[in-house]
Amino acid sequence: MPLFRRLDLSRRLITGFGLVLALLLLITLLALQRMQQMDTNLRDIVEVHNRRIGFAQAMMNAINDVSVAVQGEFDLGAGKEFDTILGVWWGTGVGGGLILDGKQWLGRGAAGEIGHVVVKRGGARCTCGRRGCMEAYAGRLAMEIKARKEVKRGAKTDLFQLMEEHGRDRLTSGIWERALEHGDDLATRLIDRAVKALGVGIASSVNLIDPEAVIIGGGLGERLGHKYVHRIAQRMHPHLFVDDRPPEMRLAALGDLGGAIGAALLVDE
Ligand SMILES: [Zn+2]
Repeated sequence: MPLFRRLDLSRRLITGFGLVLALLLLITLLALQRMQQMDTNLRDIVEVHNRRIGFAQAMMNAINDVSVAVQGEFDLGAGKEFDTILGVWWGTGVGGGLILDGKQWLGRGAAGEIGHVVVKRGGARCTCGRRGCMEAYAGRLAMEIKARKEVKRGAKTDLFQLMEEHGRDRLTSGIWERALEHGDDLATRLIDRAVKALGVGIASSVNLIDPEAVIIGGGLGERLGHKYVHRIAQRMHPHLFVDDRPPEMRLAALGDLGGAIGAALLVDE
């Protein structure tokens, strides 16, 4: 083969090889770009998804939050005719909420923890780990723990039998109510103990805040109703500093909707 032909062939080979290489490089670059694009899309989707989850979580927290339920009662329920109210939510624990001069008071974020107001120094162990909190006597969980202890010590009660009959695995507000209706001795004793603690704790808080009204809500509060709001008021009386001018005592009016209404009102703001 003449030299110029060989040179020409080599040149063509090199050119061809270069072209293939350039093509491969282009394909790789395009694929990388596409992957990057997909990655960005994926990140966007995940971000939007996370934002949605975060919002849903915030809504759920808000709905579960006692202070939001108290806000609902203040705006549309049992507290709507007042400017300053103290909400006490008597349920699994004892939560609270404060509206002062029409505005929710959150302190530095932890205000309203009325369940952990101390009603007896060195008293019963609270679910928070401390001693003598109001919740240690009045919280439904603490009362169940106490009831189980009492049964171990030989106390007689229908509480746990009622619980099983109704297919429950814990002492719900309804079980407590039924046991009280049956005149169950232990249930009556523990609820009385709870009402006394609520009287001391709420009266002490009233002495500090001087609210126009106290709203009693929560699973147990709403289940036991007006009769128990009255009993709490009676138990508060000896501890009120200004006892001739007690606050109005009201039962929460919105029930489970209170939290949802409060959350909706907050979102609306
Ligand atoms: Zn506590």
